[in-house]
Amino acid sequence: MTQPAASSKRLGNTPECTAQLVEVFSAIQGEGINVGTRQIFIRFGACDLRCSFCDSAHTWVTPTSCQIERSPGLRDFETHPNPIPLPTLLSWVEQQNYPGLHDSISLTGGEPLLHAPFLVNFLPQVRQRTGLPIYLETGGHRPKQLSMILPYLDIIGMDVKLPSVSGEVLWQAHREFLEHAITAPVELFVKIIISQQTELADLVKAAKMVAATNPQIPVILQPVTPLDCSGALLAPTPEQVLTWQTLMKHSLKSVRVIPQTHKAIGQI
Ligand code: SF4
Repeated sequence: MTQPAASSKRLGNTPECTAQLVEVFSAIQGEGINVGTRQIFIRFGACDLRCSFCDSAHTWVTPTSCQIERSPGLRDFETHPNPIPLPTLLSWVEQQNYPGLHDSISLTGGEPLLHAPFLVNFLPQVRQRTGLPIYLETGGHRPKQLSMILPYLDIIGMDVKLPSVSGEVLWQAHREFLEHAITAPVELFVKIIISQQTELADLVKAAKMVAATNPQIPVILQPVTPLDCSGALLAPTPEQVLTWQTLMKHSLKSVRVIPQTHKAIGQI
């Protein structure tokens, strides 16, 4: 079913007033420190990274249309053309917000921080209308954009990309991101994807970097979920995971190992 979104001409198609979306839906968070909680997911289009383990490559480029779930969890999607006017997205989120059902709103992607000019306008309004905490899932490499929306965030799940696993080298950007994030009264945690190819030097560097900011910041080691059977990126062995957790706990207070649980239960 295809329905035109409310006219975006009234507000103009500026990045401040319209969103470039992939989908909006209600689901169980399958990663990180809030695993198992129920969230309204707002998935933004576009990403400026190309992680080798990415399971969301369909978000790298903003699609011409987005999928909107009408009833939370029923997967009764409608298709709407991008970009989406701010008031329209607000009404969709309110429609999903059944009393007592959701624990928070997840901003995900793609890279949500590429949409900071929009989020600066959207987040205060969606917080006020729903009363739900705002959870940012990010590659952790855009500190300037983080600063723009930091006052409106409650939880930040920040990736630290290991070069040996992701193929991306972002140490300086991650360091600056941590320095910005720690200035706000938010719940901050770090997520690190690990595979059999993980190099020890990368893990040591990541542990030192987080500990230098604050050793109390929780770190989640997330074993990669292999995308196919080609063996390009293998899940770490149990021995590797035990060794790496031990190593990181030398300098960090909380290091947990949590795989992607939404895939285990067959949820999108
Ligand atoms: S930052 Fe996320 S969406 Fe972007 S390439 Fe990496 S895993 Fe994929």
